[in-house]
Amino acid sequence: MTSIHDLTREQLAHALDGEPAYRLNQLWEGLYKQFLPVGDVKTLPAALRERISSAFAEALVEVERVESDGGDTVKFLWNLADGGHPIETVLMYYKDRATVCVSTQAGCAMACGFCATGQAGFTRHLTAGEIIEQVVRSARDARSLERRIDNIVFMGMGEPLANEEPVWEAVERIHDDIGISARHLTISTVGIVPGIKTLTHRPLPVNLAVSLHAARNELRDELVPINKRYPIEVLMNACREYLGEKNRRITFEWALIDGVNDTDRDAEELAVLARSLHPTAHINLIPLNPTPGWPTKGSSKRRVSEFRDLLERFGANATIRQNRGTDIAAACGQLAAGQPVKLRRTRD
Ligand code: SAH
Repeated sequence: MTSIHDLTREQLAHALDGEPAYRLNQLWEGLYKQFLPVGDVKTLPAALRERISSAFAEALVEVERVESDGGDTVKFLWNLADGGHPIETVLMYYKDRATVCVSTQAGCAMACGFCATGQAGFTRHLTAGEIIEQVVRSARDARSLERRIDNIVFMGMGEPLANEEPVWEAVERIHDDIGISARHLTISTVGIVPGIKTLTHRPLPVNLAVSLHAARNELRDELVPINKRYPIEVLMNACREYLGEKNRRITFEWALIDGVNDTDRDAEELAVLARSLHPTAHINLIPLNPTPGWPTKGSSKRRVSEFRDLLERFGANATIRQNRGTDIAAACGQLAAGQPVKLRRTRD
């Protein structure tokens, strides 16, 4: 069954065929301004609400809503109505803004060993509606607290650029229908070069984040296996083309792994790469979060700040990212939606 948020405005108009034209506006307002389920759009007659909701259900069945950080971080565990697969969404409230981290796939095929989603493997792509609905349902939560959603990061489960068309449709509809501007939308990729090239020619200048984690191929091949297909030089060229077109600073994500990618040499290599882009890439540092299938730990707090200082000394800008939701497995790389993860042998 097509889910309600998979329908564009034109398709909804079609579904409302025979109704007065203003009904479409009422339904649209209810769905994308008030973030209501169809059954609660009280401006519509009950029979019409019933007809629409029985034809087009919501795509996500809430299994669990877990809070941490005193309610500032909320993790939703959903089952996809179509197939029952579990996915997760994380909603982060800050003092002056709120960010939603959406999943783009159930599972992930990229197999980064340190990431819980990678450890769990790939199940299926999400549709545009399933991605959009994660934003809508988060916005519904926010509304109940008299808050609104400001930023969307495509950094949940899955690799956005391995599911390009639905992700792009979701980007456009979040932009057009929900009204979040391109500079508040961020696509994070493991470095799928053809996907970055396509993005370069898309109309909306969304932010691009690249999960780098290593600045030399030998180490990156090990941490982020897709590097064997799209090595660092090729990836940096794709980043340069993106910058040439959009002139929007790129972010490098770097999960600091104790003794693996947090040495002085790593800081220097990373700074060189960041400075090879114009404008210089901004580096987001985060200590590796623990996941069941990866035995290595995150760098100590002290090493994280030393690493940041080294980067600055080498002329690169870096921020240490605030880590939210570690205790509820809602932090970066911890989203596995309760699926068992494969245990790996200890790194040599
Ligand atoms: N596939 C996309 C989107 C996932 S984003 C990507 O790789 O960019 C999730 C971010 O968290 C990525 O930067 C990812 O590398 C990082 N990450 C994965 N596992 C992590 C872990 N255990 N600790 C910290 N960050 C992790």
